[in-house]
Amino acid sequence: MRRPLVAGNWKMNGSRNSIETLLEGIKRGMDSVQQAEVAVCPPFVYIPLAQKELAGSGVAWGGQDMSIESSGAFTGETAASMLLDFGCSYAIVGHSERREYHRESDEQVARKYMAARGAGLKPIFCVGETLEEREQGITEAVIARQIDALIDLDGVESLRDGVIAYEPVWAIGTGETATPEQAQDVHAFIRARVAAQNADVAEGLRILYGGSMKPGNAAELIAKPDIDGGLIGGAALKAEDFLAICRAAN
Ligand code: PEP
Repeated sequence: MRRPLVAGNWKMNGSRNSIETLLEGIKRGMDSVQQAEVAVCPPFVYIPLAQKELAGSGVAWGGQDMSIESSGAFTGETAASMLLDFGCSYAIVGHSERREYHRESDEQVARKYMAARGAGLKPIFCVGETLEEREQGITEAVIARQIDALIDLDGVESLRDGVIAYEPVWAIGTGETATPEQAQDVHAFIRARVAAQNADVAEGLRILYGGSMKPGNAAELIAKPDIDGGLIGGAALKAEDFLAICRAAN
């Protein structure tokens, strides 16, 4: 049985005050969350606040990105070891906003994944197609390319107990969600692609859906056999909405 994971990606939002309030709200509501493992990924500078508020609460925290490099002259970068220093368990890698605005290639994302795992973090490996790619009918080819970049570089074992987030780019922050059937189809494709190399690894792999997931659609999505939770953007910024999504996995 795969335990569902619901992770909040707070992106570049919040202030010291609002983040304290959000962390307190999530912590207070955790009693109602029975099944899901819960994690939040605040902006880097607020990670110490997350550590202070969340230690011992059952909520994990992580970074929204991290460097491929381990230390040195890389201005503006944050190493996996630094995230670990502040108690992080997770790091999101390859979010479509990083791929698009920072031109991160499939290979760079795969190397970030390897760096995170090598250091002892649990990377959340994001994949997804653009609207144009979906309309061209190449969704599966795009997802396969993104996943194969990792498998080719580091082998299928690198996905053992791993986490992939399927985030159709056209559904991120747009209010438009993939239907549960559309999402399930791609999740099943991802699992089958991994299973073709190692069925056991595929069985244990958690595949999260991300893209305008909210309290109103979370239960239906998470009920699908290959959807093992969610990566939540906008709805993760309100404690009540985020908790409602976490409860959808109860
Ligand atoms: C995301 O950016 O990871 C995301 C899923 O955003 P939203 O939920 O706002 O679509």
